[in-house]
Formats: sequence, C-alpha cells, structure tokens
Amino acid sequence: MPKTEQRGVKMRSDVLIVGAGPTGLVLALWLTKLGVRVRIIDKSEQPGTTSRALAVQARTLELYSQLDLDQAVIERGHKVPAVNLWVGGKPKAHLDFTDIGSGLTPYAFLLIFPQDEHEKLLIERLGELGIAVERQTELIGYREAGDHVVADLRGPTGVGEACEALYIAGCDGAHSIVRHVMGTGFPGGTYQRVFYVADVEASGPPVDGELHVDLDEADFLAIFPLTAEKHVRLIGAVRNPRHDDDSPLRFEDVGHQAIDHLKVKIEKVNWFSSYRVHHRVADRFRQGRAFLLGDAAHIHSPVGGQGMNTGIGDAINLAWKLAAVVAQRASASLLDSYEPERIAFARRLVASTDRAFTMVSSEGTLARIVRTRLAPALLSQIVRFGPFRRFMFRTVSQTTLNYRGGPLAAGTAGAVSGGGRLPWVKIDGGDNFASLSLMQWQVHVYGTARPELASWCAAHRLPLQIFPWRKQYEAAGLACDASYLLRPDSYIALADPSGAPETIERYFNSRGLAGSR
Ligand SMILES: Cc1cc2nc3c(=O)[nH]c(=O)nc-3n(C[C@H](O)[C@H](O)[C@H](O)COP(=O)(O)OP(=O)(O)OC[C@H]3O[C@@H](n4cnc5c(N)ncnc54)[C@H](O)[C@@H]3O)c2cc1C
Repeated sequence: MPKTEQRGVKMRSDVLIVGAGPTGLVLALWLTKLGVRVRIIDKSEQPGTTSRALAVQARTLELYSQLDLDQAVIERGHKVPAVNLWVGGKPKAHLDFTDIGSGLTPYAFLLIFPQDEHEKLLIERLGELGIAVERQTELIGYREAGDHVVADLRGPTGVGEACEALYIAGCDGAHSIVRHVMGTGFPGGTYQRVFYVADVEASGPPVDGELHVDLDEADFLAIFPLTAEKHVRLIGAVRNPRHDDDSPLRFEDVGHQAIDHLKVKIEKVNWFSSYRVHHRVADRFRQGRAFLLGDAAHIHSPVGGQGMNTGIGDAINLAWKLAAVVAQRASASLLDSYEPERIAFARRLVASTDRAFTMVSSEGTLARIVRTRLAPALLSQIVRFGPFRRFMFRTVSQTTLNYRGGPLAAGTAGAVSGGGRLPWVKIDGGDNFASLSLMQWQVHVYGTARPELASWCAAHRLPLQIFPWRKQYEAAGLACDASYLLRPDSYIALADPSGAPETIERYFNSRGLAGSR
C-alpha cells in the first residue's frame, strides 16, 4: 500500500459514509433528503459492474416509495412470474408467483433488478440531490475525538486527509475497516462448499423469464432471468472441478451436468466468479460514534435474496435517527436503538438462511432424498394454498420484519403493536401508505379521531391522517378510533387503543424525543 504523502485540510460533515455499495448509497440518499450533510467515499475507481444481488424485496420497495424510487426500480427490473423445480433435467413443479403477495403489499411480486443497475440508479438519484461519491478515496482508520470523529482518508493521488465528522457509518462491506477499528468480533463461519456465479447469454427452455432450480442428485443449479433478453444468471455448486492446480477456477472447469440436463446452451459468459459462502454477524453494530451497516455487519448465504435488502433496511433504520440527533430534535440516546433493532433480525436471518442453505447444498443421502423427492412434490402441492403462499411471501419479502419488543416499541391496538409494520390496506383506488412519503413522525387514526388529539397534533405540527372506518381496516388488524404513531421510517412506534394525545406525549418525553415532531 502506498504511504499517505501529506496531511490535507480538515473537512467537517455530519456523517462520513464509508462505502458506496447499495447500503452506503441508500444511507446517503436518506440522510441528504433529511437535511444531513454527508460525505460518501469509496476506495474503488468506479461503481460495481457485476450483477451480484438480484432480488429487491417488497419491503425494500415499500421503503423506496418514500423517495419515489419504487417505480423506477420496477420499470428497470423484471417481475418473475413463476419458479420451476427440476430434478435430473425433469420438470417437477411449476410454482406460480404472479401476485404471490396479493393483498399484503402494493408490491406483491418477485422482482429482479441486478445490483450494478441498482447502484447506478441510486448514484443518479444522489447526483440529483447534489451529492457525488468521492471515488478512489479510502478510509485508513479513524479515532473518536470528543464530540466528533477524525477519519484518516487517502485520496486518488495518494494524498492523505483528516476528515472530521460527527458520526462515521461503516458501509464498507465484509472486510470493513470500520469494524476492524471498532474492535468488534465477526463470529460465524465459512461453508466448505464452493459455489459459482455466472452471468451468461444463453438459449434453451429455461431461458424464458422464469426462475428455474435444478435439484439434481449430483449437481445444483439455479437460473435467474436478468433484465436483458437471453441474459441469465447461473448459480451452481462446484463439484469435482476439472482443474488440479491453483489457477483461478473458470466456467469451463465447473460441472456442467445440470446445465446439460436442462438443455441450456451457453452462448457467452459475461461474468464468472466462484465463492465460498460465509455466515457471520458482528458482535456490535455500534461503538460510540461509529456504526456498522450492511455486509460490514452481517453476511450470509444468498439463499432467499436477503443480503442487500437487509443492508438497505439497516440504512433506512439509522438515517432518521441520525438526522433527528444531528438536528437536535432527539437526544443522542435515540441512536442506542439502532443496534438492538437491527442485530436481532440479522441473527435470525443468518440462522434461517443457514438452515435453507444446508438443505439445498447438503450431500448426505437423507438430504438428497428430501431435496430431490420430498421438497418438489410437497412444494408443488402446498404452494397452491393461499395461507402457505402468504406465509412464504411474508417470510421472504421482509414484510414481517419488525421491531416489536424493542426500545422504541409501545402498545397494542387491535392486532397491531408498536414496532410492527403498518398493515397495508387498499381502499377506494388508493391506500393507507400514501402519507408515509412524508418521512416524518405522523399519526394515523382509522375511524374518528378525538378532537383533543386533532388539536394536540395541530399544536405540535404532527401530521394526523384520518381514515373513515371500513371493515377492511378491521380485517387488517387495525382498531377503530385507536391512534397509531408512525416513525419517519414508517414503522409503528406506538399503538394506543384510547387515541388520547397524552399517550403520545408520554411516549415522546420518555424517549428523549420531545423535540422530534
Ligand atoms: C459474487 C457475489 C454474488 C452475490 N450474489 C448475491 C445474490 O445473489 N443475492 C444477494 O442478496 N446478495 C448477493 N451478494 C451479496 C451482495 O452483493 C451484498 O450483500 C451487497 O453488496 C452488500 O452491500 P453493501 O453496500 O453492504 O456492501 P458492498 O456492496 O460490499 O459495498 C462496500 C463498498 O465499500 C467500499 N470500501 C470497502 N472498504 C473501504 C475503505 N476502507 N474505504 C473506502 N471504501 C471502502 C468497497 O469498495 C465497496 O464499494 C453477492 C456478492 C458477491 C460478491
């Protein structure tokens, strides 16, 4: 590594974001929109050019609607109509995914949007807000200095700079320097099996816009449709690679039995990489003025397409809290809620993706029988049942992710509790999500709001949305005339059956949020 040549001028920003992957870019977008001065740096010369994470989950799209990003992602992405299971080249199950989450979310489908195109879109949007990623700028280290941090950066010419910021956000990926300086552990492990990922141009029956998974006895292959015609992503297990030296593995070296079984004709390989899957969660997501987000905080198998979405969720969870603290609308203790809210989900996710990954990749006889016989037969039947479809969608789409039991969650009204996601209800050609784009505290009442609640909200400039009572609200679990206090990231903070303003006032005061309206 070249030595830093000289010290540059100190620059001050509110938040220094290290890393311009999807996590850092979303954090920069949200913070900028909320009026926070950010610097976003990345050591790489240019944005990623490979597809990597493909799935954009429904919850991410719901959150993206706050910044009008949802439609752009949908327009540029690809809705996957069905998932097909094959065994040994024979079709075993066709699972219809059209409207799989119908009635649960405005985004009731499985969407594919390659990560490189996704990052390009986020960079464009950030540019429109006047923020550019500072490329070839590397974080070397940082230290806390009382009420701020001082970060050592090395710029494109190798010149060093000490950058001051109130907070530092480590969005710097699996090998995070921020995590290293924090001194937190990253316990977990690495699976033995090697996998490959290849973006190819191809033809053949499975190149049809649907997702195909071949659960062969001796091989594993998933074929994801990409946005361009004839372009697909292959993910497969590397078995008995056809090379015996230390040279990097090539596409020609991996077993092609499943590819041949499915009659896929590869015309061009645009990107090929092999990798081992890790499963790790950092011991801490915060140390003083430093935070860990995205792959810097948690990594796990790509099964279920959760990794990138979870990083984006981290960013949106932290952004409004940093914005409130920087603007002195909340006490710094609000930031304490970031770690418990996000680490609990990350740990559950790593455990569940571990189970799923073990199921699809194990080599034992029993695992093979489950994978190649039981699973396809069972899935083709139960996927027809509404409750199972909904369960499957809810689990994967992150719409069940919640902060119930966390430090910012209070109360229950109907079947809806503080810390939960607001149930989506479509009504009269509109829905109850429209006001969430305000990105600020607000109150929802379904039914009639008490006059004193309306006056209190007006006096405190807290937006109050009143939805005349309908039976659809009851079906969604909402209680008539109760008040639901929503956080700027749209999660429910407080659910109060009484609908009284005093409860909201007490909630704000007890959490040091007195000035955050
Ligand atoms: C081959 C491959 C295939 C994948 N496939 C899938 C998939 O199918 N599904 C899925 O969900 N996920 C997949 N992933 C994972 C997914 O890409 C990550 O979860 C996602 O990129 C995490 O985003 P992030 O912003 O947290 O981190 P990253 O995207 O890793 O971004 C971190 C950024 O920080 C920068 N950086 C690092 N250190 C410094 C420093 N010291 N100073 C300045 N900048 C720094 C890096 O240059 C990088 O741009 C895949 C990953 C790989 C590598």
